[in-house]
Parts: sequence; C-alpha cells; structure tokens
Amino acid sequence: MQASLPLCLGGMGVRSVFDVAAAAFLSSSFSTRELQTRILRSATFLPPGIQSALADFNARVSGPEGAAAGEGSVHGALTADALAQDPPSHHDLVGMVDRQTWALLRQRSSQLDNARLLSAAMIGAADWLEAVPLPWHSVSSRDFSTAVRLRLGLPQHATSHICPSCRKEFCDILGHHALSCSSDGDRIHRHNAIRDDVRDSCRRAQLNPRREPRHLLEESGEKPADVWLPTFDMGREAALDVVCTSPCTDSVYRQAASQQGFAAAQAEAAKRHKSLEKCEQAGISFLPVAVEVFGGWGETALAVIRRIGSLLAEASGRSRSAETRYLRQRLSLRLQRCNAAMVQARGA
Ligand SMILES: [Zn+2]
Repeated sequence: MQASLPLCLGGMGVRSVFDVAAAAFLSSSFSTRELQTRILRSATFLPPGIQSALADFNARVSGPEGAAAGEGSVHGALTADALAQDPPSHHDLVGMVDRQTWALLRQRSSQLDNARLLSAAMIGAADWLEAVPLPWHSVSSRDFSTAVRLRLGLPQHATSHICPSCRKEFCDILGHHALSCSSDGDRIHRHNAIRDDVRDSCRRAQLNPRREPRHLLEESGEKPADVWLPTFDMGREAALDVVCTSPCTDSVYRQAASQQGFAAAQAEAAKRHKSLEKCEQAGISFLPVAVEVFGGWGETALAVIRRIGSLLAEASGRSRSAETRYLRQRLSLRLQRCNAAMVQARGA
C-alpha cells in the first residue's frame, strides 16, 4: 500500500491502476465535457460507466474505514452534477485517493511504523529517488534494494539476531538497530560523509569552509562546528553542526509516530542546548544540520541547504532551485549508501 503512494507521502510512486482508474476516467470525462457537448450536440450526455466510476471513486475516498481514519474523510460523495459544474483535475482526484490511502495506512500501522511513515514523508526523504542520473549518483542494486526496504518497512533479515557489531543488542528484522548502532564507527563514518559533502558544497559556493576547526570557543576548547564558515548568516561567522538521528529508536518513536520531524527537531534542540549560547557569545551563528535516517531534514538544515544552494547558484550561474535540488540529492544519496552499508554489515 505504501509503495503506491507518491514520493511526497512516503511512497514509491508506483501507482496501482485499480486505485486511480476511476479518478482518471472521471477527470478525463468531465474536463472534456464541453468538447463532448459540441461534438455530440447534447448537453446531457454522460459517457457509459460514469455512475460506476463515481461509485468506485466515492467508495475509495469516503469508505467506512476512511471515515474512521479521520484524515481521509475530505468531502461528501461526489456526484455527476457537481463534477459537471466544477470539473476536477486528474491531480485533484488522484490526490484525494492518495490522502485516503495515507490515512488508512496510518490507521492500520503500529506506532513504530507510523514513525517511519511520517519520516519517509518529510521534505528531502525522497530526494535519493529523484536524483539526476549522473555517474557519481550511481547506487548499486544491493544498496538500492536495502534503501527501499528501509523506506517501506520491509524485512532486511529473515530473523532478528544478536548484532554482530556491538554484540549487545538485537538486530531487528527491519534494520532499525543497524541505523543507530554505534559500534564499528559506522555512525561516525555516516556523519563524516555527510559533513564532508556539506563542506565540499560550501567550498564550491566559495564560502571558504574549514572542517572542525579548533579554538573557535577559546575558553571551553569545544569544537561546535563540523563545518565553520567565516561569513554566512547575515555576514556572521557560522558553525554548522551535522547530526543524523533515527525516529525509530525506543526513546523517540512514540512521539515521532504523531509528530512529523520530531526526531530531527529534538536533535536540533539538543545541539542548540549544548552550543548555541557559547557560539552566540563568540559572535558565531550556530546552525544545527539535522537529518533523520530516512532522509527528512530538520527546519534549520533546510534553511542552511537553501542558503548554500543560493550561493552555489551565484557561483555557477545555474538556477537556485537546480543547485539546491542537486545538493539535496547528493546528500540524500550519501545518506542512503551509508545506511545500506550499516544494515548489510549487520546481517545474520
Ligand atoms: Zn549493534
């Protein structure tokens, strides 16, 4: 069911013809009604099958299960008269089917699955699926399969087993432990890979970045910046602090099941609590760059990426949207490759 949803709702965009046939037929029929009237010289003609398509569509978007779901009951039953007066677009009708499918999926899923679903529907979570097919964007079929399984909540392993890396916790069949396991340096490697991509992008944007400089905060000796920029935020120095977090850990998933982006927001808040005040006192803007393991970005991270994208556009002459999209895709692919390696290293 999740795979049939559009990317923006956590799906794979693999439509089921059974789900959207009625919506497509209705929108096509009513959007061409004026032309039909002129050709057939009849203002009352309705194509055969309209009533059965209406019944099919209405059952899909306002059935009893959908009404119980709350989110999906977006309207009363559509009628031929209403559609004739205000012809809907294909996008409108299919969107109604999607929202109902999303509501049903959420209703039928566990809290843990809901945490994953909401995360998979965040901004940025599908960037790796929309990446421009460039040589350095290539993903092995094995990594792609692992990443798809993570997104859709499909089993990675036949059974749960003691994690071969930390030898303390169970590797669940969905791979959630693998994404958070701190052994073998995999989490650090994932963090550093994303950090280095951010730094490289800042370098291309002519921001003169430095990686983890010492002595930014002279008194504490801490290193709040994964990437330090001499001028970025309103001309101020900026410390970018990258953090990758999972919405499916035991301590987070219950809240992440009802609040989209909860894990990223919590990670950003924790980073701010640690470093914001000290950086402000030093005249440095502290900017946490949080990403959830399924690819969704925190609010500050998105603002930072947009800003870097704008500066990349100034440097390259390409459009701001293209540079921002390309940057997000690059980071998203990096994250998914690292995730796949973590899951595969912890197979039975
Ligand atoms: Zn482990």
